[in-house]
Amino acid sequence: MNIIMIGAQGSGKGTQAEALERELGLTPCASGDLLRDHIARGTPLGQEARPYYERGDLVPDGLVIQMILDFIRSSGGRGITLDGFPRTTPQAEALDAALRQMGQRIARVLYLEAPRALLLDRLSGRYICRAHGHVWNIKTRPPRTPGICDYDESELYQRSDDTPEKIAHRLDIFFSETIKLLDYYSAQHKVTRIDGAQPIEVVTAAVLAAVRG
Ligand code: AMP
Repeated sequence: MNIIMIGAQGSGKGTQAEALERELGLTPCASGDLLRDHIARGTPLGQEARPYYERGDLVPDGLVIQMILDFIRSSGGRGITLDGFPRTTPQAEALDAALRQMGQRIARVLYLEAPRALLLDRLSGRYICRAHGHVWNIKTRPPRTPGICDYDESELYQRSDDTPEKIAHRLDIFFSETIKLLDYYSAQHKVTRIDGAQPIEVVTAAVLAAVRG
């Protein structure tokens, strides 16, 4: 089963993708995590993507599509949760075409809705673990030990694109561009809207109910 999480930055996509892994064994596939890894390793893809990433702009479709399709092909047909991809209609079209070729499909698209003020508040408290990109929040989901990931004990850091100006820019792109994907997937009758402002466990229950149908 393949699931797409759509939601603005700070809507809780990564946290809920972790829950889907725990509960249903779906592998999380976060395009932002994959890009950060390429950038940190200085791969050719990372070098090309870096200036876009640092500005908070979308990385060109061709680069991201190739990266995600490579991940899906290497995941051997086990179910995945896509987090942060697709973000544009050409990305969604390329994904559909590639899955069709593999005899797979997207089962459900979950839209985690949250008001902009809440997103801004959450993003300002967000910390990510170095080892695996686990998401913590000093306000809403603090780790047991400050600055350390509960799961793998790696160091927590604040992302370079989580500054106020870049956050505002990234949210603008979400609400002007990525939001169009709701029309794309609504035409396929796949979208479930979930109130992402609720507590994490309540959102997880709604996510599982939507996925289990
Ligand atoms: P995220 O961790 O999902 O917030 O993504 C961080 C940054 O990675 C974004 O601001 C973009 O620069 C880039 N990025 C991640 N996913 C995509 C995508 N599907 N298309 C284009 N750029 C992306």
